Amino acid sequence: MTGQSYTIEESFKRIKDEIAQAAVKAGRNPDDVKLMAVTKTVAPELVNAAINVGADLIGESKVQEYLSKKDEIDLTRCKVHFIGHLQTNKVRQIVGEVAMIQSADSVRLAREIGRRSVSKGIVSDILLEVNIGKEESKFGFKPSEVYEKACEISEIEGVKIQGLMTLPPFDATKEQTTAFFSNIRQLFIDIREKKIHNVTMSVLSMGMSGDYREAVIAGSTLVRVGTAIFGARRYN
Ligand SMILES: *Cc1c(COP(=O)(O)O)cnc(C)c1O
Repeated sequence: MTGQSYTIEESFKRIKDEIAQAAVKAGRNPDDVKLMAVTKTVAPELVNAAINVGADLIGESKVQEYLSKKDEIDLTRCKVHFIGHLQTNKVRQIVGEVAMIQSADSVRLAREIGRRSVSKGIVSDILLEVNIGKEESKFGFKPSEVYEKACEISEIEGVKIQGLMTLPPFDATKEQTTAFFSNIRQLFIDIREKKIHNVTMSVLSMGMSGDYREAVIAGSTLVRVGTAIFGARRYN
């Protein structure tokens, strides 16, 4: 990535334009695709810089990191979704702090989110994370079990399923990624047509820096982009 030579503003605007172009190419309304700025490892000043140029949704993937940054982030103009793997013992700290937990990857986790939400008197919006790459190491539901698990989770008090989230294997080719995306889009439609009580299939979260155009063409309603906005992440 050579993104460092662009400002956050230039990158953000270029990605927005590309998303709009991909949407139009696919016969979709550009307004139906949300751009999330993924701000894990990004310092609060730079998160605010993105908010200043129009980012109204950010994604964080570590509970501790987010809680330590949030007071310095301008949350009056921006919503936050949690997108990382969530351990059950951290659920209590994040429930009520974010507008959505996109990474609900087990029934056990959904139960804990529900339990903590009920005790705070709220309902938490969640997405079911689908492990479409069928990799052993990754979190999420297998495509074949998503419908059944959605039915099970729909009964849990304190959570509301709003859609699906996925990330393809990082080593997939463009063709494989495109096929993954269209498979999950079909799954999303199939589940929506089943009209499960208390389940809304309105958010299809897929697409990252390397594949957001393909994701939009395949029907994504929310792309999660970090590196292409902020440059390569530095972990320390
Ligand atoms: C880090 C991350 C992203 C963003 O990845 P980039 O390749 O930097 O755009 C998207 N989704 C999830 C779940 C992530 O953890």
